[in-house]
Amino acid sequence: YGGGRGRHGDSRRGKGRSGPSGSNGPVQPASKLSSILQQIDGKSYGAYKDLYGTFDFDSEYTLTFDHVQSDPFASPTRAHISITNPGFSLDCFTNKIRRVAAADFFTRMFWQTCHNAGGDQGHSAGGSGGYHGEKGGAVTIDRPGQHVVERTSVVCAIDGSLQVRFTLSMPARGRSVLGQKAYGILFELLPQVVKSSLLRKNYSTPQQHLLQQHINSVEDQEYLRSQLPALGLAAFVRNGALLPRKSGADDAPLDAAGVVLFKSPGGMEVTVELLHGGSVTGMGVRRGVTLICGGGFHGKSTLLNAIETGVYNRLVGDGREFVCSDPTSSKIRAEDGRSVCGVDISPFINNLPQGKSTKKFSSADASGSTSQAAAIVEALEIGATTLLIDEDTAATNFMVRDARMQTLIPSDPITPFIHRVRQLWETHGISSILVVGGCGDYFEVADQIVVMENYTPTDATERAKAIITETRSRGDTYPSIDPFMIGPPRILARSTLQPGGKVVGRRLNCLTFGDDIDLGSVEQLVETSQVRAIGDIMLWMGRKVCDGSASLSGALEVVEKEIERNGLDAIAQYQFAGDLARPRRGEIVAAINRYRELCLA
Ligand code: ADP
Ligand code: MG
Repeated sequence: YGGGRGRHGDSRRGKGRSGPSGSNGPVQPASKLSSILQQIDGKSYGAYKDLYGTFDFDSEYTLTFDHVQSDPFASPTRAHISITNPGFSLDCFTNKIRRVAAADFFTRMFWQTCHNAGGDQGHSAGGSGGYHGEKGGAVTIDRPGQHVVERTSVVCAIDGSLQVRFTLSMPARGRSVLGQKAYGILFELLPQVVKSSLLRKNYSTPQQHLLQQHINSVEDQEYLRSQLPALGLAAFVRNGALLPRKSGADDAPLDAAGVVLFKSPGGMEVTVELLHGGSVTGMGVRRGVTLICGGGFHGKSTLLNAIETGVYNRLVGDGREFVCSDPTSSKIRAEDGRSVCGVDISPFINNLPQGKSTKKFSSADASGSTSQAAAIVEALEIGATTLLIDEDTAATNFMVRDARMQTLIPSDPITPFIHRVRQLWETHGISSILVVGGCGDYFEVADQIVVMENYTPTDATERAKAIITETRSRGDTYPSIDPFMIGPPRILARSTLQPGGKVVGRRLNCLTFGDDIDLGSVEQLVETSQVRAIGDIMLWMGRKVCDGSASLSGALEVVEKEIERNGLDAIAQYQFAGDLARPRRGEIVAAINRYRELCLA
């Protein structure tokens, strides 16, 4: 397996696992595991390697060690549990979205039970007791956030069987095996967690109800999103939704007194019948050009943020369930300093100083306006049909240039977005939803204008159109401009996406792919596990797809087909990786586009 140094050393796919039997070896009784632990107690840490194998626990589940860490400071041991018949209704697994929802539910249950039992605590390697102190002992499963996405922590099969992947940091004192402690984890904690989180017979009636509710809600949200095109909508915001979040750093719902629940203006209300009985009513944002106006601090950005992550399904109780948007929608923003590679930004920017070409624009340090232009063209390249822009994060000179400025500077290289937004809609069918609090010129180009006041929207389209007529006499004119041409697809070079160093995602805002890729401005990423998956996907693309003739969008289609057919496991860097969550095409390409070593053919 080329490219990238393994984050788990010897367990990379296809390299031939050293010693481990994976899931292929013979199944041994749990008593065998217990006697191994007795034998290796007190020995040097490497003796934990004897755990490789699969062990049967009371015919209820098997435990397999996929990768055993070689020392207490290395990345933790990875293991999985397989349960052939957990007893849940096969109805939970009949289609893809139900399996995604069920897997997400079991992951949360496992995490919660383990956490309640203190099983995820352990002793940190650098903690008390120093080098000779006790270390390790924690059991952890990838922890989901507010969104329900396809993940590898639990794999549900159509026959109702489950595979659950987690990590264990095998306990040690100094560098010696703590066999007794390990026994406690594997024979007391883990069976308890498995039994209460993964076996139906131990579910209380309310828990069974929660599982069903979770699956139904996710399936209904997915269904609602799939109905948007037929309804002529770019987005839908449910009446009663709770949009604000606890803080900029906490995605949980704001629980302060005085929270205002969302309520659609009467004229914009749409009702959709759902699959599992009942219906949902809310604001339909029609395709075309929509403005969200309003004074500062009245909830404009909060509404747009809910729409931009409305490409994902939400957890019941999140507050933003059934706030859904066009699944291809792309948040566009200025991001000065980012790298741009061979993007045709000529629809927006021409005649740069010193005759620098904008048909294949590259820069290691793009400006606010050029980065925003590149973001739009990159989104169109992969088929986005809705653009989302917030003035808070847009470059003003990219958005507008008023009559006075046009007089002073007639040959600005920028054709502002206001002159392109209607063309995008009328000739290419690309909708835009824009937060605009500062520039009424946008009334001219909008189909629909919503005003947010005290966190509640009103439909101000008529009023705004009347204002245009009243004020037009000032003689503002719009220049006639060329049609908007979408440039040819970019072709990836053969040698690209082959990092010189390791591939790791530890934070939401950064992917290490050899060098660090800054993802801090990629706002539709919601989980670090997606960042890890993006890294693995980029590696996979570099190895399997980039032959010097594949286009960027074509390569992404190959990736998505592979994941659709064989799951995220198919592109994973490590076998039985339990810490991946599925990114959209837009987030994968966002990372590729920001990769400073990207090469085009
Ligand atoms: P704007 O973009 O219009 O300036 P924001 O969307 O940033 O305003 O919201 C301003 C503040 O109001 C934020 O702190 C946000 O959490 C809070 N807020 C937003 N919507 C609501 C709401 N429906 N109820 C209560 N507080 C809200
Ligand atoms: Mg704002």
